[in-house]
Amino acid sequence: MAKKCKVLDCRWFPADIPCEFAISGNEEEVLNIAVRHSVDSHGYRDTPELREQLRALLRDDRRKRAVYLLRDERRKEVA
Ligand SMILES: [Zn+2]
Repeated sequence: MAKKCKVLDCRWFPADIPCEFAISGNEEEVLNIAVRHSVDSHGYRDTPELREQLRALLRDDRRKRAVYLLRDERRKEVA
């Protein structure tokens, strides 16, 4: 079975700095990159608490990807 694809958008995170950062991939990948991003760009400290906070924000990528595909198809039809 394929691993579930997760997506994380920095706008869901209650950060002081508005940020457009978004990533998708498998859960551990997304989490690792998100932690690094939070540390590098937002000055958070890499703690288990931060990791859990980020994990709680992860969403299933499936629906979002379907929406992207629909938009792409429409764009092609218009062009
Ligand atoms: Zn960010």
